[in-house]
Amino acid sequence: MIPVTKPFLPREDEFKEYLDSIWERQWLTNNGPLLNDFELKLKEYLGIRHLLYVCNGTFALQLAIKALELKGEIITTPFSYVATTSSIVWEGCEPVYVDIDPETFNIDPTKIEAAITPKTSAILATHVYGNPCDIDAIQQIANRYGLKVIYDAAHCFGTMYKNKSVFEYGDISATSFHSTKLFHTIEGGAVFTRDPDLLKKMLYLRNFGHNGPEEFASLGVNGKNCEFHAAMGLCNLKHVDEILAQRKLLSEHYFTRLKNINARFPKLNQNKDYNYAYFPVLFDTEELRIKCMEQLELAKIYCRRYFSPALSTLPYVKQVKMPVCDDVVKRISCLPLYHSLTFPDLDMICRIIERTQNYNITIPTEQKNFGVIIADKIETEINDLKSLK
Ligand SMILES: *Cc1c(COP(=O)(O)O)cnc(C)c1O
Repeated sequence: MIPVTKPFLPREDEFKEYLDSIWERQWLTNNGPLLNDFELKLKEYLGIRHLLYVCNGTFALQLAIKALELKGEIITTPFSYVATTSSIVWEGCEPVYVDIDPETFNIDPTKIEAAITPKTSAILATHVYGNPCDIDAIQQIANRYGLKVIYDAAHCFGTMYKNKSVFEYGDISATSFHSTKLFHTIEGGAVFTRDPDLLKKMLYLRNFGHNGPEEFASLGVNGKNCEFHAAMGLCNLKHVDEILAQRKLLSEHYFTRLKNINARFPKLNQNKDYNYAYFPVLFDTEELRIKCMEQLELAKIYCRRYFSPALSTLPYVKQVKMPVCDDVVKRISCLPLYHSLTFPDLDMICRIIERTQNYNITIPTEQKNFGVIIADKIETEINDLKSLK
């Protein structure tokens, strides 16, 4: 079975060393030494002055909205993971969607101004697949209308923009260290800001508003993370350069192998070093996307439709048509990409896609019901192909 992603895991003994130290100290959570060390090493690695490690990426987004005291309407993208919109609604604001750029799949800055009303307080945009938005254009609009900018940078670990970590941009940037992300701490996330006052505010919000054991500076919730997750972060941070390099190699191999298929890939922002967080393919037609996914699934290879559905069709928002996004959602899928993916497996994925396109394979319905048998057949075929290598 080849899933769309597999978490990177350090050697068990690397993790065990940290666990032993936790057992020795019996300090499990509440700003422990591993958590402090992790925050410090993260700042060093990213070249960033201020950040806070929190329980997950969704909380990081909610914390950003809360700390900026946003009200009313927030302009956002329909093409992202559900957490981008749900955080806005959860914090009592209204998402207002702006369609995406057909080349990058990021929010289209040329359409933002038309969506601004007197109730607009901010722009919350996602750097889709780790590819930065048009940050300069977005900032110019924000400055002109006095809006705050939050970036959902959940895909962005390792991405640089103009020689700085992309986390440096916007009033607040939020990221996720969930197990499905290229750098993870099992569960976890972080907020980044250049403003020390904002950082302090978020520090209180993260920890019940505590300002001392029996003192409270403000309202707060429990958004902390713990020693165990920080330990995984410390382990994985030692491997992250190797993870980034391997993803680049695998992605370049995909590009070469797939250059003749009827599909295209996102246009990468010129001002950055890309992190190859995902391998999205925009098929020319929805039919081809469906057929390829079907054929791959028969071989027990699982892609994932990042992102479907469009967030502008969620049941709890004012539903609107977003022509570019609605079209992309139908045709896009992410191919398997993870550290331990082998080159023969990657070749096999490409071969199945090519074959599906070239022979225009359709599976009769009655055969679909015997999916297991077909999968076995295909597996035999795959093993034959592998033995050819
Ligand atoms: C993963 C993800 C999130 C949520 O992060 P969690 O750590 O799982 O809460 C938010 N936005 C995007 C774009 C993501 O991919």
